[in-house]
Amino acid sequence: MPGFDYDLFVIGGGSGGVRAARVAASMGKKVAIAEEFRFGGTCVIRGCVPKKLLVYASQYREHFEDAAGYGWQVGESTFSWEKLIAAKDVEIARLEGLYRKGLTNAGAEQFETRAELVDAHTVLLKSTGRTVTAERIVVAVGGAPSVHGALPGYEHTISSNEALHLKQLPKSIVIEGGGYIAVEFANIFHGMGVATTLVYRGKEILSRFDGDIRRGLHKAMVEKGITILCEDVLQKVEKRPDGSLAVSTKAGKVLEASEVMLALGRSPNTKGLGLDAAGVAVDPRGAILVDNYSRTNVPSIFALGDVTDRVQLTPVAIHEAMCFIETEYKNNPTSPDLDLIATAVFSQPEIGTVGMSEEQAAKAFAELEVYRAEFRPMKATLSGRAEKMIMKLIVNAADRKVVGAHILGHDAGEMAQLLGITLKAGCTKDDFDRTMAVHPTAAEELVTMYSPSYRVKNGERI
Ligand code: NDP
Repeated sequence: MPGFDYDLFVIGGGSGGVRAARVAASMGKKVAIAEEFRFGGTCVIRGCVPKKLLVYASQYREHFEDAAGYGWQVGESTFSWEKLIAAKDVEIARLEGLYRKGLTNAGAEQFETRAELVDAHTVLLKSTGRTVTAERIVVAVGGAPSVHGALPGYEHTISSNEALHLKQLPKSIVIEGGGYIAVEFANIFHGMGVATTLVYRGKEILSRFDGDIRRGLHKAMVEKGITILCEDVLQKVEKRPDGSLAVSTKAGKVLEASEVMLALGRSPNTKGLGLDAAGVAVDPRGAILVDNYSRTNVPSIFALGDVTDRVQLTPVAIHEAMCFIETEYKNNPTSPDLDLIATAVFSQPEIGTVGMSEEQAAKAFAELEVYRAEFRPMKATLSGRAEKMIMKLIVNAADRKVVGAHILGHDAGEMAQLLGITLKAGCTKDDFDRTMAVHPTAAEELVTMYSPSYRVKNGERI
């Protein structure tokens, strides 16, 4: 790196940035990384990890109820939001420490400051005004909840960021959105006893998922007591003298709530980052444009993770970072493989999915076999919980390949990880059929659906 302060400078200490910095440093590169808030990024500090801890916490109410059917007598239970948030914060601080330690052990220099691009090789460290140069720069600054400034009363609303730090548990909440965050938080708050209403603009929540699973989750959430208003949007949020909020919707409803949360997607964090100065091209949403190797139009500048708005998922950002390392430092050009990403929605019941929905597959293939099971899991028998599990395999009739696998029910996320391997390996339905069941489990249903529930030919169910 003749003439540069560093081989690599990473802006953003989230999942992607930390991985790129840590691995490059461990290879002996001179690396620095700047983070303006806390190391760990969205996933660790205000996303996946704290959210999942809250999901676990919110499930206990049903666990206590279910225990009676299994012979347990559970005494009166109480819940402390304050204790939960404090415990969650301790865990997050521990994880942040591990991220920092990993960087330190690898020899990456850490700057606790906002950093902005000055030109193709120069970064400004805002806290000191110092500039440093690097042969390569990785921008991995992530995203933030999309703002909805046009909504009158927007200033009274919160996002998932604030939801993780509320001083007290609200009595009631209105959540707008029908994606991952809206659905997960609706279940979290409901589980903690908060009167919860979900308002979504489309016909059915979770627009990018399999229709069966979407309808199944909607039904289960309503049966639990969550109100879901589809084909509606918030029109106004007003604060009353007593501090409560009055929410007017386009369809003419007026809802009362202690909190209003918006979960309308996440936007790239590129404002004021100096991308113009460095000549880095962005799309109309502000996402950094990259090629298959995470290269921007400026040869020395790379971008990965949510800031590129490819697929906003932690494992994807980490994978993109590893591909960057392979390509730039191991002479092994590797582009991220974004096909067949298994994913989970930590709703209650949970969704685990990989591959095409039935609707997508019906457009892609002339004929499908759909294997579908809807059943009461054994776990729900003695507890008496009226809970249904849905499992679905979408098979391309032409070559018997399983092109989609979808589960609604307990542990669906765990199962999706393993189904992801089978689909990635190109397994056919015959491979599933000759796999011995693990008994008694819910997952065994995946290998015991021997005849198709129905077929879809030229887009028509027959
Ligand atoms: P999503 O893209 O999942 O959902 C956004 C929702 O907001 C959609 O229902 C969308 O409707 C709706 N919406 C968007 N704009 C408007 C608007 N102007 N008015 C009304 N509704 C609107 O984003 P999230 O914010 O839920 O999450 C961000 C990303 O974070 C996700 O895409 C996901 O990749 C990641 N994530 C992953 C999790 C996981 O892996 N379990 C958990 C949480 C987040 P429509 O569908 O009609 O477009």
